[in-house]
Amino acid sequence: MAITNKEIVKSLKLMGQLMELHEENPFKVKSISNAAYKLGKYAENLADKSTAELSAIEGVGKSVASKIEELIKTGKIEELETLCSQTPEGVIDMLSIKGLGPKKIQIIWKTLEIETVGELYYACIENRLVEAKGFGLKTQEEVKKLIEFNFSNKGSILLSNAMAIDEELNKLLSEIDHHIQLEKTAELARNCEVITKLEFIAHEKFKEQIQHTICRDELFPKSDFKDNCLIAESANETKIYIHFYKDENYHSIKFKLDASENHLQKLSEINSSLIENIPNVNDTEIYQQLGIAYIPVMMREGLNEIEYAKENKLRTLLQNEDLKGSLHNHSTWSDGIHSLEDMANYCAELGYQYLGICDHSKSAFYANGLSEDRVFAQHREIEKLNAKNQNFYIFKGIESDILNDGSLDYSDEVLKSFDFIVASVHSNLKMDEEKANKRLLKAIENPYTTMLGHPTGRLLLARKGYPINHALIIDACAANNVAIEINANPLRLDLDWRWIDYALNKGVYLSINPDAHKKEGYHDMKYGVMVAQKGALSKEFCLNAFDKDQLANYFNSKK
Ligand SMILES: [Zn+2]
Ligand SMILES: [Zn+2]
Repeated sequence: MAITNKEIVKSLKLMGQLMELHEENPFKVKSISNAAYKLGKYAENLADKSTAELSAIEGVGKSVASKIEELIKTGKIEELETLCSQTPEGVIDMLSIKGLGPKKIQIIWKTLEIETVGELYYACIENRLVEAKGFGLKTQEEVKKLIEFNFSNKGSILLSNAMAIDEELNKLLSEIDHHIQLEKTAELARNCEVITKLEFIAHEKFKEQIQHTICRDELFPKSDFKDNCLIAESANETKIYIHFYKDENYHSIKFKLDASENHLQKLSEINSSLIENIPNVNDTEIYQQLGIAYIPVMMREGLNEIEYAKENKLRTLLQNEDLKGSLHNHSTWSDGIHSLEDMANYCAELGYQYLGICDHSKSAFYANGLSEDRVFAQHREIEKLNAKNQNFYIFKGIESDILNDGSLDYSDEVLKSFDFIVASVHSNLKMDEEKANKRLLKAIENPYTTMLGHPTGRLLLARKGYPINHALIIDACAANNVAIEINANPLRLDLDWRWIDYALNKGVYLSINPDAHKKEGYHDMKYGVMVAQKGALSKEFCLNAFDKDQLANYFNSKK
């Protein structure tokens, strides 16, 4: 098939951007970008034109015309191929983010050494863009928003974004009639860390009002009905599915949609006729009829929850109210936005008993990591604040980089001075599994390590994270009395919830850590709790569900 105008324009545009990124002759850059712009509005089919005709088009010229001809004839432009080969794939992806030009991307790539969109997003959260030339807090916020928009483009969305959509739509609908409600179901009801299909249920009597309210140009311009389900799509391709029920089938529809296929499959092994014809009774009763313990919605994945329910051994799940404090947070001492005192005051305001401050350690130079002198200066400030407020306690922590060889980046003398140490990998993330395991094992075996931070370094929907042998790492944590964090940032949610049960069975403590870089970051703990519930974490095994004295004892026992 002949190449379309759109494809030609896309190639020329990319070529102009890459030439600018690689600082080629500005005159050449301008001529190719200009041609791309002009041809974007050109009505006739370019593939049918001769070179002479092409170069006669306004804004094109001879040299660009020859590139277009090369593309039409061979399907590629040699010069463009070369430029692409000199640029990391993730950096090329950044060019497709509208509003982020080659000049800024050059700084991001060359100065900040960020090579993927996911890393760039996380850098915004960790305030790494603020310091770079030509950037500031405002630009950083803009970049973050641009990327968020880009993320939601791809169909799958983060749990946090799905929850925001849920809230927004329900607010809108309740303004029409407070009886209307979209109830979350399927992946969203199950607290999945990534939502591949965003589904709700609603009463059939509100069908028209719902359609009328949300199927609008500015919300979901495209919509369709299929099997009594409204499928609506937003301009950035986020799809939602609203299933309608009647009074007489509410429970059976909800039960079927809430659970994963695997869960239903395993239930039908217990009683196939019951699952084939789910009665319209509430879910408590359905599990009663199956003769097993009630399984909370978020756990209905078909892993081992049914075995636990059969033996009536499901744990009591951790709740938000169980959390007594917040560990692993940053302040202006390293790359946070708010001062230590502000971070402490806000944490206290939220009703928590303590804050574990864990600014970056000295080798995290990009994050203004703490030199030994600054560590001790921070400790003096913490002691002062603790003396000032008897009702709230700040634990002296650090997020110590795990260096390439697995060692931590302070001497024992300095490591000894902290109440607790979160050991995390932030550099050389491109490791194979053997290397990653070795590196983590050495850090876990360090007697000063209290907790392993974000074990795989993954950024959901953005970066896979380095491969680790989870069982091996968790076993080592058990052997060395090291806890593992569930990093509650909605982009991380790492430790993965699928490993919680294994960790608990080995007696490993977990901690719901927001890794807050500003005050509002504490609120991320709710996402950590959501996935922790999915993995059946109980409060007995959650470090920050300990009260202040219990936790102080725990830290002391490690010393
Ligand atoms: Zn970290
Ligand atoms: Zn951190």
